[in-house]
Amino acid sequence: MQLAATIAQADALFEILPRPVGFIPTMGALHDGHLALVRRAREECVAVVASVFVNPLQFAAGEDLERYPRDFEGDREKLARAGVDVLFAPPNDAMYPPGFSTAIDAGAIGAGFEGAARPTHFRGVATVVGKLLHLVKPDRLYLGQKDAQQTAVVRRMVRDLAYDARVVVVPTVREADGLALSSRNAYLNLTERAAAPSLHSSMLAFRDALAQGASKAQAYERAKAVLDPLAHLHYLDIVDAQTFEPLETLRDDAFVIAAANFGATRLLDNLWIESL
Ligand code: AMP
Repeated sequence: MQLAATIAQADALFEILPRPVGFIPTMGALHDGHLALVRRAREECVAVVASVFVNPLQFAAGEDLERYPRDFEGDREKLARAGVDVLFAPPNDAMYPPGFSTAIDAGAIGAGFEGAARPTHFRGVATVVGKLLHLVKPDRLYLGQKDAQQTAVVRRMVRDLAYDARVVVVPTVREADGLALSSRNAYLNLTERAAAPSLHSSMLAFRDALAQGASKAQAYERAKAVLDPLAHLHYLDIVDAQTFEPLETLRDDAFVIAAANFGATRLLDNLWIESL
């Protein structure tokens, strides 16, 4: 695996990669969810590029940018073992040189749910992914379903701004007890970790209640009964998978989405309703 730590090194390497090129953008602290994206890219592409960049633009003041878990040597080893050809790890000032002031606005699709809680978040995500796509020029972009709204935002951006990459969405990898893998799970103490899988169970209860004909309010009550009392639920809803507009009933190509705090840690999860 080659390491590109500057834009010049990256340009030289990306120019000569055999196509199709698959690209997996990450913020590091890699776990098996990230590696599922790499495995999928390895199966479908001739060359695989992964990036590790903790993007300051998607964190607001007071969020966890400074304490976000970092393990560059561990990440490097995992990516090499998973068969990545190029690891792109740019320094901050390569991505955001002095005077940087342009941004990509994600629009309505990034305004609700995570966007309502973190108003500058999707602008930061769209801007960094937009810039990474220009630098890496992949044929396929691999994203996790785990971050469903982020995936919808990026998919829309790729279409709206005519990027030349196909977006591939990889199913969420979970622990045996249902908790979706996340770099932020490392923040949970033992009690919070024990309570956290109830977020997934509550989404299943919500989905099953809706499937049985319950109203959204009834389904919400059933879900709350399953959720651990330690959880502070921010939202549990059903949305159109493409637009993220809330829906009243269950239907195909929708997501049940949820976010809750377990202590100081905000966890996100979702279920894709592919077909009823
Ligand atoms: P992050 O490093 O958290 O920005 O995530 C990088 C990519 O990995 C994003 O496309 C995420 O959606 C994806 N990802 C994170 N966790 C998981 C998971 N548990 N299963 C599948 N993909 C994931």
